[in-house]
Amino acid sequence: MKTAKVLIGTAAACLTMGAFAAENANVTASAGARGNSAQESGMKIKIFCDMEGISGILAKSQVTHDHPRYAEGQRCLMGDLNACIQGCFSGGAAKVTVQDIHSTCRNIVWDELDGRAACIAGPTSRFQGIEEFDGLILLGYHAMAGTPNAILAHTSSHAWKNFWMNGEKAGEFAFEAARAGEHGVPVIMASGDDKFCREAKALISEVVAVEVKTGAAFEAGTLLPKTVAHQKIRQGAEEAVRKLRVCKPKPYVLSSPVTVRLEWVERPALPGNPAVKIIDARTYEVTGENAEKAINMLF
Ligand SMILES: [Zn+2]
Repeated sequence: MKTAKVLIGTAAACLTMGAFAAENANVTASAGARGNSAQESGMKIKIFCDMEGISGILAKSQVTHDHPRYAEGQRCLMGDLNACIQGCFSGGAAKVTVQDIHSTCRNIVWDELDGRAACIAGPTSRFQGIEEFDGLILLGYHAMAGTPNAILAHTSSHAWKNFWMNGEKAGEFAFEAARAGEHGVPVIMASGDDKFCREAKALISEVVAVEVKTGAAFEAGTLLPKTVAHQKIRQGAEEAVRKLRVCKPKPYVLSSPVTVRLEWVERPALPGNPAVKIIDARTYEVTGENAEKAINMLF
């Protein structure tokens, strides 16, 4: 496969570091100044929330509907989510919309959600209308399928063994970043275990990566104290939004056309689209104008 070409960089409109420091000084000066800044900058933040990388979650049972431990998983989710929303507003966000992306996308308890945030739930488009937002946060994500000692690692579904975009092995972080990038939106912050954070930083070095647990196996690891995990998420979101207000990073964009290759765990049905190449009985590949279009051709 050909080598991935990734276009990534820093927006030309970025202010100098001196201006960044001055901006931070203004923001932290007082609550009043913070409120004014939020209105002036009007940052709109979208949060995609998954569950496997949420602090407090170590077992598949906690993220599985109909399991007795699922309610515990939801409580953990709400804790991280509210900490993240709080951090976004402290950092100067004017609007925060959260979108539930785990499983059937019905995990958020709206009644317990920070009342300042709008909420999108249920199986609906993840990227439609995302252009409205200045930055994307990937909360509670996990490392790519096959990552050693990573908590609940997988890519999209446990039926996917390996996934590549333009020849580079990709996890959900890269997949989300690439599709958001196609809509002009940069990923500004991400949270999950240590392996996920390493994966995120390797792809986008300037992303604020918040490590809330350390993986030891697929369903084992060390969890931070709850208050510490929430504080780290709050501070990470605040820092990410502040940085965004000063300097909007260039979105992560793959060079077009984009070739996606998917290796399934089990042999799948034969592809319906003649453009899909059969690499072997469990591996299919297709090239499309961008990542979103290419992946849609595979299904
Ligand atoms: Zn996921």
